[in-house]
Amino acid sequence: MHNARSKPYFRLTLGCDMTRLRGFTLIELLVVIAIIAILAAILFPVFAKAREKARQASCTSNLKQLGAALAMYLQDYDECWPANNTPGYDATIEIWFPGWIANGLAPYCKNWQIFYCPSAHDQGGWQNPHDGNKRVSYCYNYFATGVAGGIPDAELTNCYAGATRVVIMWDNLGAWADAPHGTWYADWSNYLAGNASSTLCPHNGLKNWLFADGHVKAGKYDQITWDQFFGTHYLAATYQDIPMTQARPF
Ligand SMILES: [Zn+2]
Repeated sequence: MHNARSKPYFRLTLGCDMTRLRGFTLIELLVVIAIIAILAAILFPVFAKAREKARQASCTSNLKQLGAALAMYLQDYDECWPANNTPGYDATIEIWFPGWIANGLAPYCKNWQIFYCPSAHDQGGWQNPHDGNKRVSYCYNYFATGVAGGIPDAELTNCYAGATRVVIMWDNLGAWADAPHGTWYADWSNYLAGNASSTLCPHNGLKNWLFADGHVKAGKYDQITWDQFFGTHYLAATYQDIPMTQARPF
């Protein structure tokens, strides 16, 4: 006859305590899932930012190398900056525009990947019609360096903004800036419209800028004044304190 005493006997015969075999309760599971979700929510944005920082460093390196290529170009071309009639045009090197400085810089680079920011993520930029692997996501400032013909470096060094402040190349979906027609204009207009996501400010909201003296720094359009953009242009002194986000002068 079975009675209440039979239960402990049953447990003993199995060699374990059946009450310990129960699974997690729903509440316990939910708590664990909630903790994992909270940790993920905290850590994932941090990982994304860290990854973007690494890409930004790579982009900085690209622009530094392009700055070094420009310095070598200057030495070989009578200390004159490349203009939109850059010599050395080759259809196989061409990136959309026959005179783009990539043609002139090619002998000093030997690596096409440095013309494309790793954070641009195939979002655009100019592409070589002959070779889809050759793309550009940096804008060259023809406006400061002479649209019709490259100006002497001494002229740029002694211009109002000076070589340490004149911007030469930066993250941009357009390949050149020669205001008001430059392809950078769409990027700049989007920025002014508050449409930052559609513009190329890929480094946690910043662009990388290469300056005429070869240094590279991250910043926004707000932090660049028009005289830095104009370089040797006659308007430079007039717009010395006015950020590129204000008072469009053309
Ligand atoms: Zn970049």
